[in-house]
Amino acid sequence: MSPRTDAATGEAFGSEGEAPGLARPVDASQLDTRHGDILYLDDITVSFDGFRALNKLTLDIAVGELRCIIGPNGAGKTTMMDVITGKTRPDAGTAFFGQTIDLTRLNEPTIAQIGIGRKFQKPTVFEAMTVAENLEIALKTDKSVWASLRARLTGQQRDRIDELLGLIRLGEQRQREAGLLSHGQKQWLEIGMLLAQEPKLLLLDEPVAGMTDAETEKTAELLLTLKGSHSLMVVEHDMAFVGSIAQQVTVLAEGSVLAEGTLAQVQADERVIEVYLGR
Ligand code: ADP
Ligand code: MG
Repeated sequence: MSPRTDAATGEAFGSEGEAPGLARPVDASQLDTRHGDILYLDDITVSFDGFRALNKLTLDIAVGELRCIIGPNGAGKTTMMDVITGKTRPDAGTAFFGQTIDLTRLNEPTIAQIGIGRKFQKPTVFEAMTVAENLEIALKTDKSVWASLRARLTGQQRDRIDELLGLIRLGEQRQREAGLLSHGQKQWLEIGMLLAQEPKLLLLDEPVAGMTDAETEKTAELLLTLKGSHSLMVVEHDMAFVGSIAQQVTVLAEGSVLAEGTLAQVQADERVIEVYLGR
């Protein structure tokens, strides 16, 4: 059960454009989730100039779970995602992806490659390209954007794009320029682009911020569809949305877990009301 030390740091790899001949430092197929957890953060501390953004944070996510994270601004939610994705290295603690892969030893591109996808608040789609082209590019990550668009799609890739378009409800928009989509549709397209890379764990930071009520409802449906076949961690302030998707809710405050339970349970918690809900 000791961590795979030969999986090592991935440090030798540049941030982009690794030679294809280099073996992956960690093989995603080795993801060992026999104990039921996809992610286990243990005692993570991150300090910025002495200020503890994360303070002995311990949290685990089960395989196939859809976990919602709530908490006041500055609680450390984004910093937690930065640690999971390798953007920030913690001062102490471990972050295990499955039983054997310690994310704190890997760099960002490696972590993305082994199956952790992250969606930031602002959608970053290629606005001048069509919806379908955006998905095409996401499917063919081994090539540059332009090489990708020139290369022919295999039948399998074509099927996968159709499948993704259905999932993100953009089938009728497939030939539209992504720049012409509504804010909500752009968010779904970006989720589709992440899904094209077949992540096992998806991290979503405020996915429904700025969406209309109808878009928010559709996003809830989409995330519920993904649950089970994917594990999801969703940071969100919209309580109605959280209530519509969450089984388990974790409340972060001052860099640690303040409470965990169903939304009703944490909403009834005096400490949660004091730091977050009670305005
Ligand atoms: P949340 O996403 O829950 O609002 P953050 O993770 O963004 O919280 O921030 C947690 C705390 O850490 C905040 O007080 C923030 O100011 C601080 N912080 C985050 N990133 C940095 C950084 N790069 N340098 C200094 N302080 C930071
Ligand atoms: Mg944040």
